[in-house]
Parts: sequence; structure tokens; C-alpha cells
Amino acid sequence: MNLTALEPQALEIIKRYDEPRAAMLPLLWLVQTNVGHIPSEAECWVGGLLGVALSHVREVVSFYSMFRTREAGRHELRVCTSLPCMLRGAGDVLAQIEERLHIRPRETTPDGELTLTEVECLCACEIAPAGQLDEQFVGPLDRTTIDAIESDAVAPYTGSARIDEAHPFVSTDGPVISTRFRNTGGTWWDAYIADGGYVAARKALSSMTSSQIVDEVSKANLRGLGGAGFPTGRKWSFIPKASLKPRYLVVNADEGEPGTFKDRYILERDPHALLEGMIIAAYAIGSHKAYVYIRGEYFRPAERFARAVAEAYERGWLGKNIQGRGFDLDVVIHRGAGAYICGEETALLTSIEGGKGFPKLKPPFPAISGLFQCPTIVNNVETLACVPFILREGADRFAALGTPKQGGTRLFSLCGRVNRPGLYEAPVGITLRELIDRHAQGVRRGHTLKAVIPGGISAKVLTAEEIDVAMDFDSLQAAGTMAGSGGVIVMDDSASMIEALQSAAKFFAHESCGQCSPCREGTGWIHRIMRRIARGEGRLHDLDDLLAIARAMEGKTICVFADAAAWPVQSYITKFRAEFEEHITTRRGAETTHVDEARACPP
Ligand code: SF4
Repeated sequence: MNLTALEPQALEIIKRYDEPRAAMLPLLWLVQTNVGHIPSEAECWVGGLLGVALSHVREVVSFYSMFRTREAGRHELRVCTSLPCMLRGAGDVLAQIEERLHIRPRETTPDGELTLTEVECLCACEIAPAGQLDEQFVGPLDRTTIDAIESDAVAPYTGSARIDEAHPFVSTDGPVISTRFRNTGGTWWDAYIADGGYVAARKALSSMTSSQIVDEVSKANLRGLGGAGFPTGRKWSFIPKASLKPRYLVVNADEGEPGTFKDRYILERDPHALLEGMIIAAYAIGSHKAYVYIRGEYFRPAERFARAVAEAYERGWLGKNIQGRGFDLDVVIHRGAGAYICGEETALLTSIEGGKGFPKLKPPFPAISGLFQCPTIVNNVETLACVPFILREGADRFAALGTPKQGGTRLFSLCGRVNRPGLYEAPVGITLRELIDRHAQGVRRGHTLKAVIPGGISAKVLTAEEIDVAMDFDSLQAAGTMAGSGGVIVMDDSASMIEALQSAAKFFAHESCGQCSPCREGTGWIHRIMRRIARGEGRLHDLDDLLAIARAMEGKTICVFADAAAWPVQSYITKFRAEFEEHITTRRGAETTHVDEARACPP
């Protein structure tokens, strides 16, 4: 292992960051990509270059699930068993792969060719059951794709297993975001310019003040589409005008909410919409440096976005004195490494700063003290991709597409047991029923709808009778759930709510950062109890115990992750209690569950 050969590259990476230790994750990626894993000498080397203690490097490495400290196979197959994949047979698929390759998760084939890993959501739910072979998404996993993977693993590697691009439905008729999604070939610059690209940024830089931009975005009723739904213009207005510190724009592309895959399409198919939105936002808040935090599993989206960034630099839309308007903006792409919690904005900032992705107590909010203790705005990819439309077409037009308190359209990710899983752009006031019946073409023939999670796995579940609800933030909140990330997970009458809750519990137990006792202990207890119930060893009082644990987690922790882990427990048990009781009393768990039982928590 020759780490010295990597030093010039490492020094180049460090230069991109405002503080050296922020280069921690990219340097660890540099080592893993070149060496195959991160040995202890490399941890020392990284610590030495960044001026941080070895113990700190070690704790960072151990926090992120994509980093490995031991040698693995030449290739890695990662199989997702989160709820959307489970609903489409991931449990059986994983069992088939284990049988064919004669290995279990975390094991490597005897020839050293392939390591099998079971993972939580890859956010490729439209091709569920989904996998990832090295950097490439693969799916839907079935006999044919497993054959291809097996031949890749035993023969000279050909990389023949691929995502079936034709399979998922992808909206291409806009009107705000998806019009350029048909552009899969990668002619982004030409297509984007032909479609009115950078007209809005030119208008902002040449004829608008920062407060005019904030007013226009506020008038459009644009809300944060990462999940929180906070009014975007208002958020931008929180940046203290008198502060002499640098200001940062941070893009949250750490898409990780099970059931959601929208930001991936923007990064891959319309990256300039995001970049143009970033230029406008940065100008509005007075920022000259933007960090884009892209989840570790998104290799191709990150590559494609990097190509668009290079195009923008070449054409004078990034860098010094953009288009001769006296405004500078540099963009740094920062890759995550497998930690759902980094989607929480303060955890994301801590992660960029080179630490474990630990959320922080708020206040102070990032707008006052964020990245490197400077004023920072964190916006989601889709939120920023809407901004050029608002400035180009007018706030009124954007607002008119939506409801009185939320303007525009939204990218809805539809997955689970529907006939046509995919990504659909629709006005935010569309009903859940319309999305499922008209767009996703309903549930499978011979089955009826049973339950829907409308906003990613953290949202409370709705029954089939509750889906005549508009999909905007306020309507879903009034219906007792949330719009969240726009990830809609559909269950038909063949789905087991016990399996579904066990899968959700496995996810939350795996992803808790562990700082707060109610969350760390609570998610573990819930997972263990659900695992026992699913096995057919449940007791009726387990249900009240689960509800009591969920109550003890809500509102008592640093971030809302614990609340999000509690909500599925409360809503599944309350709305489907009879099914849980019947399962427990008839003890039929052994014949129904295919969800992994042991990998997220020790017994
Ligand atoms: Fe970490 Fe959970 Fe506490 Fe959030 S609530 S900080 S995820 S332990």
C-alpha cells in the first residue's frame, strides 16, 4: 500500500475546503477507492494530513456504514431489504442470492470475487427489489438479474447486471421540474439552454436585489421539499445581514428516506436546474461558497452532477465574476458514506466538518451558526430546482399550481405494491387516491388497497379509507400524518402489517446515531419486540409496551429522528391492532416473515 502516491491528490482535496478537517470523508473515500478498504496505517495517514487525532479518524470510519476496515471481495453486491423492497420480495431474493452464491451477508465468495452485504434503503425503490453492484444500481432483482450477477461473480467481471432503465415510469411532462427528465443521454447543457436555462439566473444577477428574490420566492409559496416544508423565502431571510462571517449555501442531496428517489433523478437528468437554483439562492443570501452533500450510494448521480458543475465553470456560470456581474460562487461536491441521519441538517453540517453525523440541539439554527459556525442555509435538491421556474415564469404562476399555502408541483416517488412504480410530477394538491389509481395504476389485479405511507417511512400510515387527502404539507398534517419527502409506499391486502412494522423498526434501530438514550434504547427495544412478535413469540401486552416505548421517545431527544421512529409504531398498532392481536394469538409468525431478523441489532 503506497499512501505517499496518493498525497498530491489528498492535498488537492484539502485545498477545496475552508477547514482541513472537513476533507475527512473525501480522504477516506480516496483511500478506500485505491486500497479497497481503510487499514489502520491509512487512518494514521489521514489523521496526520488533517491534524486530527487517530482516535477521531477511527470513530468517523466506524460511524459510516460504507467504510470498511477489512479487505472485501473485488466486487460488492449490496441488497436492500428496507420496506419498499421487502414489499416486492427482497427477503426471497436475498435468500436466493445466498443459495446461489453459497454465502451469507457480510461474507465473500471463496474466490474472493464478491462480497454480499445487506443494506437499508438505497433509494432505488422504483426498481425494487433493488441492489447495487459496486457503483451500479441493479434491479428489479429477479432470476435474470441474479443470473447476471452470478456470472459476473464467477466469470471475468463484465458488469452485465444493470438497472432496467425501461422499467420504472418517470414523469417527463413537467411543468416545473421533470420536463427535461427525458434527457437521459446527458446533453444537459444544450437541452437546458434550449429550454430557457439560466434565463432566471441572468435576471437575478442583472436586475434583482437579494430582498426582491427572497420576496419572489416567498410569494411563490415554495416550501422545503426535503420533508420539513418550511417556507423557503422565509428561511433565506433569517441570514443575519450584518454578519461579517462567510455565508454558506449547503445542498442536502443526502436522500435516504425509504420510499424516496426524486433527488437522484434531478442530479442525473436535470443537474443544471439545481445549479441554477443554487446560483440564485447563493446570490440572494450573499454566499460565495456552496457545498453539495450527495449520499455515498449515489455514485452515478454524483458523477453526472460533477459533469454539470464542470460545464457551468467552463461557461462562466460558476467561479469568479459570474457572467461579468461581479458575483463569485464556488461549488464543492461532498460525498456521504452511508448514514441516514446525515439527512438531518445539523448532522449533515457536522459530517461536512469531518465528524460523525451527529445532530445538534437547535437553537442556534444553521442560519445563525451553521457550517464552520457561520450563517448557513441548508436546502433540499428539489426545493432549489424549483427556483429557476419561479424567477423565469413568475411567482404567481408557481403559486397557482399549488394550494393556497404551498405553491407548485412536487415529485412523488411511488413504490410498493402498485402496478406502475415510478416518479410522478404533479401539483401538490393532487389527492393520494389520484396518485395511486390514475398515475401508479392502482394495486395488483385481484388485490385491494390496504394501507399507504404518504411521505417516506417516517410518516404515519393511512388506511385505504383515508386516501382522499391532498398531498400538500398542511392537508396531510391535518389528516394526522405528513407529506415528508413525497415518498409514497403502497401496501395491498397481501401485505402483513407485522412485517411492515418489523422492517421499519429494523431501519430505525440501524440508523439511530445513538446520542440520546430514548432513541438509542427505544429503537433497539422496538426492533427486538417486533422481531419476537414476527417470529410468533409475541404476547398481547407487547402492543401496549410498544406504544409506551414510542410515547417515551417522542419530543425528548436532540432531533426528530426518535419521533419519526415512534410514529410508525403508534399508527400501525392503533390502526391495525386487530391484525397484530390475531398474529400474536395464532402465533403464525414463522410462516409469514421474510425480513432479516438478526442483522440490525444483536439478539
Ligand atoms: Fe441521534 Fe436519535 Fe438523538 Fe437524533 S434522536 S440525535 S438520531 S440518538
